[in-house]
Amino acid sequence: MANHVSENMENSDFKRTYIYGESALGNLKKNQMPAYPRNYEIWYTYAAGFNRGLNKAINDILRSTGMITLAQLDTIYNEHLAPSRLGDRVDEVGGKISTELSSIVREVEGYISATSHYGESLVGASQNLSKTEDRNVIREIVTQLISETKEVEEQNRTLSEQLAASQAQVQQLRESLDTIRYESLTDDLTTLANRKHFDRSLEQAMEEAEENEEPLSLLMTDIDHFKKFNDTFGHQTGDQVLRLVAVAVKQNVKGRDIPCRYGGEEFAVVLPSTNLRQAVAVAESIRKAVMAKELIKRSTGENLGRITISIGCSTFSKGDTVQDLIERADQSLYAAKRGGRNLVKCETDPDVALLADKPEKSASGAA
Ligand code: GH3
Ligand code: MG
Ligand code: MG
Repeated sequence: MANHVSENMENSDFKRTYIYGESALGNLKKNQMPAYPRNYEIWYTYAAGFNRGLNKAINDILRSTGMITLAQLDTIYNEHLAPSRLGDRVDEVGGKISTELSSIVREVEGYISATSHYGESLVGASQNLSKTEDRNVIREIVTQLISETKEVEEQNRTLSEQLAASQAQVQQLRESLDTIRYESLTDDLTTLANRKHFDRSLEQAMEEAEENEEPLSLLMTDIDHFKKFNDTFGHQTGDQVLRLVAVAVKQNVKGRDIPCRYGGEEFAVVLPSTNLRQAVAVAESIRKAVMAKELIKRSTGENLGRITISIGCSTFSKGDTVQDLIERADQSLYAAKRGGRNLVKCETDPDVALLADKPEKSASGAA
């Protein structure tokens, strides 16, 4: 999105990534590791510094032993980078649930067979009782019945205990699944909804808007000159700023609004039951909240000045596709950038409409 890359900025991206690459190669050499793509990926990610868990894991090991082994790197990769991590966890929890359910089924089957045996004993006893008047035989039958009843009672109690334990276990597993589901839809850095969540939410919100004939609007935000900020203060400080902007976005929306991290330094907000005028008001409050924040670097107390964001707003019209709505918000955002940044623009603003007539119109630059 917001493809306003000057040659200079491309140049700085070029430099930055080479610095990460060189640092990655340096670490591979220092730890005497082959430069396989996977090892390189880990050290590159480490140099870039945006995967906090990975950096912490590596730093902890380096701090205690000074060196890192391939086996340790392997574990770190699996824990912090492996793309299938989430799938593995879902499989693992799913497997545990099905084991737990099989064990419940086995317990219940055992119980049913024990109680059906008890039922047969009762029928047998009642037949035998009707055939005899011998006190000793009767005593024997009754003693036998009491003992079998106790046994069934015991089995009954065991079964209820086991069922209660299983229920607790299944409940815990269900919570694990909920956590995994939540994590799969949440952006790690900002804890806002991630892109996947955004795609789903927008589609659903559009269906509902169409069905209930309610308004629906969309905001697309992009931090101004963020490349320069990263280049000046470093990627990690840049990440802190992303968190700060995320908080500003979150604090200025409410109810059914869905704030999301759309991409790197771009946030989107889905605003159900909100018309364009109201959406612009929300956007203005977000823009003002961001520019009101003075950035102080926590570690050094250094004042980093302020950052600003530009916002584009679009609103749902009957027959719109998801892409249409995003594109109009993007065009508005692009107009805000062209208008000088730190601005809110919406799809009905004359300069946005003008842009829409041009062939190269999407600010996302997406093909
Ligand atoms: P503009 O005002 O035109 O938006 O200028 P810009 O420099 O912000 O340009 P653009 O939006 O195209 O650049 C995005 C930059 O944001 C690239 C990169 O330096 C930075 N960025 C993207 N994702 C992340 C991230 O996850 N963390 C950090 N720290 N920076 C990011
Ligand atoms: Mg951008
Ligand atoms: Mg930007």
